[in-house]
Amino acid sequence: MQAIDDQLIASGIANLLEQREAPRASVEDLKLVHADAAIARVQAHIPAHGDYYALDSDTLLNEHSWDAALRAAGAAIAATDAVMAGEIANAFCSVRPPGHHATPDSPMGFCLFNNVAIAARHAMQVYGLERIAIVDFDVHHGNGTEEAFADDPRVLMVSFFQHPLYPYSGVHTAGTGPANMVNVPLPAYTRGDVVRDIVRQRWLPALHTHRPEIIFISAGFDAHREDDIASMGLVEADYAWITKQLVEVARLYAKGRIVSCLEGGYALSALGRSVVAHLKALAGID
Ligand SMILES: [Zn+2]
Repeated sequence: MQAIDDQLIASGIANLLEQREAPRASVEDLKLVHADAAIARVQAHIPAHGDYYALDSDTLLNEHSWDAALRAAGAAIAATDAVMAGEIANAFCSVRPPGHHATPDSPMGFCLFNNVAIAARHAMQVYGLERIAIVDFDVHHGNGTEEAFADDPRVLMVSFFQHPLYPYSGVHTAGTGPANMVNVPLPAYTRGDVVRDIVRQRWLPALHTHRPEIIFISAGFDAHREDDIASMGLVEADYAWITKQLVEVARLYAKGRIVSCLEGGYALSALGRSVVAHLKALAGID
């Protein structure tokens, strides 16, 4: 998040953006998606100062993890409230921990609670929205989000992800798998030109059919060519292009409403530069 802040300043867009502190979500908010036991497991294992607790080999807690997780989910909810109230057209939640691997029953893969899924449920429950789109361009499959919304006709989820790669899910043979998931597994070394064709041919037709009233983005930037956690070849211009397509869909059907939440992205310079490209597209700054 510091790397992102640095690039926002270096790029000159920091003072063009309205920045807000993330409030804490309530435990009731977490229960919109997560089982009581999954929430209790995180809360019960928050370690003492200086210690770590491993929920699994990827997913560690420290003394600040509970508070950070509440603020990550709380940011997504507050952003949803702000766009629904018309205070702002769209928002980016610069938060960690990420969320899209967290299933209703378990944290995993760096993720404690599913920020985007919680905000999407909040949008349905509080505002009665019936057509929601979740766009996931993280390099990993958003298995937790898929599990939360599989076969829920109110939600369309579109994604691409490197395959095979953690968490080794989301690949459904033709005619099987949840009807509301547009999953596009891609081999290692796929570059932006191919990804843009996937967006044109697979995502956009589904989005135009669904006519979402709000778009949530699981905005992971680990498909960047500089990110060593995976092996895809996207660059900042690809994230800008994808974001522009989503801004146009939101303009047509959703009064511009987009809530984007940070997921992965581990090459810190590339992460910061990619977020700047994403935010410029969201804000309509060229
Ligand atoms: Zn990822």
